[in-house]
Amino acid sequence: MTGNKASFLLRCVRKECKENKKGYFMSKYIAVVGKNCVACGACMKVCPRSAIEVKNGVKAVVDADLCVGCGLCVKTCPAGILEKKER
Ligand code: SF4
Ligand code: SF4
Repeated sequence: MTGNKASFLLRCVRKECKENKKGYFMSKYIAVVGKNCVACGACMKVCPRSAIEVKNGVKAVVDADLCVGCGLCVKTCPAGILEKKER
């Protein structure tokens, strides 16, 4: 088991996960991109789930189905515009 999978399962045990519409258990947290993203791509590189894409070189977009709310991107963003929020 990878470290990322283990930490995700640990969050489930702590009841930080919830079931989505498709019946999958998801983290109840998600990364949210604020205004003024400079599309540097740092968040995209650090995301263990490949949940972030920088679209058209303009703005980072988070795939809600892939994000597990680990917060790595939040710590990495040089502009400080990523936040971890409840879904
Ligand atoms: S919170 Fe974690 S999984 Fe979600 S987009 Fe950021 S780095 Fe990826
Ligand atoms: S790290 Fe921050 S500024 Fe850079 S692409 Fe991601 S959200 Fe935008």
